[in-house]
Amino acid sequence: MASSTPFSSRPFPKTICMFDVDGTLSLARQAATVEMIETLKKLKEQCTIAFVGGSDLVKISEQISVHGIDAVQFFDFAFAENGLTAYKLGQPLASESFIKFVGEERYKPLVNFILHYIADLDIPMKRGTFVEFRNGMINVSPIGRNASIQERLDFQAYDKIHKIRSTFVDILKEKFADYGLTFSIGGQISFDVFPAGWDKTYSLNHIAGEGFTDIHFFGDHTYKGGNDYEIYEDSRTIGHAVTKPEDTIKILNELFLSGKK
Ligand SMILES: [Mg+2]
Repeated sequence: MASSTPFSSRPFPKTICMFDVDGTLSLARQAATVEMIETLKKLKEQCTIAFVGGSDLVKISEQISVHGIDAVQFFDFAFAENGLTAYKLGQPLASESFIKFVGEERYKPLVNFILHYIADLDIPMKRGTFVEFRNGMINVSPIGRNASIQERLDFQAYDKIHKIRSTFVDILKEKFADYGLTFSIGGQISFDVFPAGWDKTYSLNHIAGEGFTDIHFFGDHTYKGGNDYEIYEDSRTIGHAVTKPEDTIKILNELFLSGKK
């Protein structure tokens, strides 16, 4: 179990520091360093801390449940999938899902349309897993997620010229305009479909009643189109743009830890 000083008796009782994971607490898809974990331990003696990652909890844990800590227990708030999966002091908070939001009745025509559209698509190659159903979104791939590394590169090059994904997204946006969905093209072979507003600002809902006045957010993809953009720009947060975990440590030392062991 987490044994923590209550938020209100820390030196900065109304401050929370929220961290993106990939590129902010650790290098992309790597484990956080000992130095990072030690810095966070010191920070937690000063204020409330949270992570807010886009990946699922399994992937996030591989990166930050390291050097003797369990991320869900260690962080005061733990947010995976932008906060759709959420914990406070190691205890789960109410979670949301794509299918709960959309509903079976509205999901069926959407996925049927997508599969028909892909079936009729004339592209050089198709593999398998054209729609991947996740907790907070669906991921749609015209070539299929089972494509090999080389096939992914080939599709990416083909898509650059023939605009397969952007054309597909434009059609879905128009046809399902009343669904309240956001379409986001990322990576090489696919695009994500999720409810509007389910970016990282979603996690702010979970801390809204906690009385924090200074909500610091640290992220590396804070530019427009990046997955930290919305929360970084949000009027409720104080945004810090970093390019690597060392930047995060440096800013924390300056803001909260200078002169402290
Ligand atoms: Mg990142």
